[in-house]
Amino acid sequence: MLKNKYLYIILTIFALFLILGGLYQFVSAQNEQSKTVHTVTSNGTRTIAAPQYKTWQETVTIGAIGDILIHDWVYQDAQTEDGYDFKPMFQYIRDTLLQPDILLANQESLLGGAEIGVSSYPSFNSPYEVGDALIDSGVDIVSTANNHTLDRGEKAILNAINYYERVGQTYVGHYKDVEDQNTLRIINKKGINFAFLSYTYGTNGIPVPEGKDYLVNLIDLDKMKEEIIRAKKEADVVVMSIHWGNEYQRVPSEEQKYIAQELASYGVDIIFGHHPHVLQPMEWIEVDGHKTFVVYSLGNFLSGQMWDYKDIGGVAEINVTKTVTNSGVSIELSEPTFLPTYVSNTNLHNYRVVPLQDAGNFGLSNASEKQKEIIDHMFQWIVQ
Ligand SMILES: [Zn+2]
Repeated sequence: MLKNKYLYIILTIFALFLILGGLYQFVSAQNEQSKTVHTVTSNGTRTIAAPQYKTWQETVTIGAIGDILIHDWVYQDAQTEDGYDFKPMFQYIRDTLLQPDILLANQESLLGGAEIGVSSYPSFNSPYEVGDALIDSGVDIVSTANNHTLDRGEKAILNAINYYERVGQTYVGHYKDVEDQNTLRIINKKGINFAFLSYTYGTNGIPVPEGKDYLVNLIDLDKMKEEIIRAKKEADVVVMSIHWGNEYQRVPSEEQKYIAQELASYGVDIIFGHHPHVLQPMEWIEVDGHKTFVVYSLGNFLSGQMWDYKDIGGVAEINVTKTVTNSGVSIELSEPTFLPTYVSNTNLHNYRVVPLQDAGNFGLSNASEKQKEIIDHMFQWIVQ
């Protein structure tokens, strides 16, 4: 009896499947019919209506910080018994850095590692532990094309790349070979693809080794245009990280403005600039209805430089919204924000990056005034 009962249940379930399957096919066929509506217009031409899709929308916040430039008194402060630990330097800013969905940093001093000897100005080389601290603080990609890229030669570049590959960090701007250079860096967050490009104006007069142009990306508008066109085909958003401008100048040069305008006309969506070691304002550039967001200079984020705005940096952020509808895909940038930061130290010890508004607790006497001044400075060209 029990056996029969089971058989009965199994047969019933089977029959139910058959009925549901049939129903599904019927409904699908009906939907198919309603998707392709054939209409005949008055002039006799037949048009086929496009299939109806639901609207899809997602927003991602992308952020960037400026120069990570590790002078000797900074790495000496990070020294431990068996290496270095830079994580405490980010302990008061880490929560802020973890906020954006994607975060880029400019790794100004290369991570050639202690094995070839760490070094400071004018020929920098930093320990790998700098990279560990950045990863711990949420940095997703490091920009490595800058005027110090060739400071310690090919060996430092290859060591740095080897380190990044080992820990799974994305780098852009210096490369190990042509294939590496031709591989676009694309980060996907919540269904939005971001392509990252990185270029520098030069390498402090150190020539690029012959036949090894791939070691560092040098600014060349034709080459950049080519890569931007390639990136636009593969990504929703193109982000240019660029090392340019004049050191210690708080406003962009004519050349920076010209390059930004060109990049905007090629379709770059976001430009994160660095090199001047001080903050330069943010701006929207509009070319043929396409808007590009530019931060001319992000300043120093962590460095041994002090005073005259060299110890003030910040986190620039902007929202990127992708909308997919029947009429296509659109990208919209909105709500740029800037959170100023300050590098505090006590007699070249206890280096800490802190929010500028809290810097009063870290020895800066006029922190709230500075905070207001920096916000006004960064937003002076942005109509709020
Ligand atoms: Zn620089």
